[in-house]
Amino acid sequence: MWNRSGTMAARNYLNRRLSDGVRRVGFRKWYERELLSSHAHMLLALLCTIALMGSMEAFGGGTLAEKFLDIVFFVVSGAIGLWALRRYLYLLMHAEEVANQAVCPQCQEYGRFTVASEDRRSDQVTVCCRKCQHQWTIDA
Ligand SMILES: [Zn+2]
Repeated sequence: MWNRSGTMAARNYLNRRLSDGVRRVGFRKWYERELLSSHAHMLLALLCTIALMGSMEAFGGGTLAEKFLDIVFFVVSGAIGLWALRRYLYLLMHAEEVANQAVCPQCQEYGRFTVASEDRRSDQVTVCCRKCQHQWTIDA
């Protein structure tokens, strides 16, 4: 796996920030959306695999130009497939990682908190329990 400071880290502009998500729709919805998005990428990776197999099969016949197009198609499908697979795993693991920290340490309430403050550089979000007002930090 890659580490969190790598290219797939939270700095990726595609990533929705936990703090923004919690402010806008609440943690549970944010979590749900991250999982949905993760599964959409899994589906894309699957489609790319099918495309890869298709272009391999098509490679057998055809003219030189068609073979060349097959190779281009193969490389593009492979690249998109790999990207989608990485994205799928990242989104899934990140959502789980955050969910593991979403329980209030004081009253054990799950996923019911508001954003108290955030450090955008370290991606640490200080959250406040809606039930008991206890504050703790989530590594997002
Ligand atoms: Zn609490």
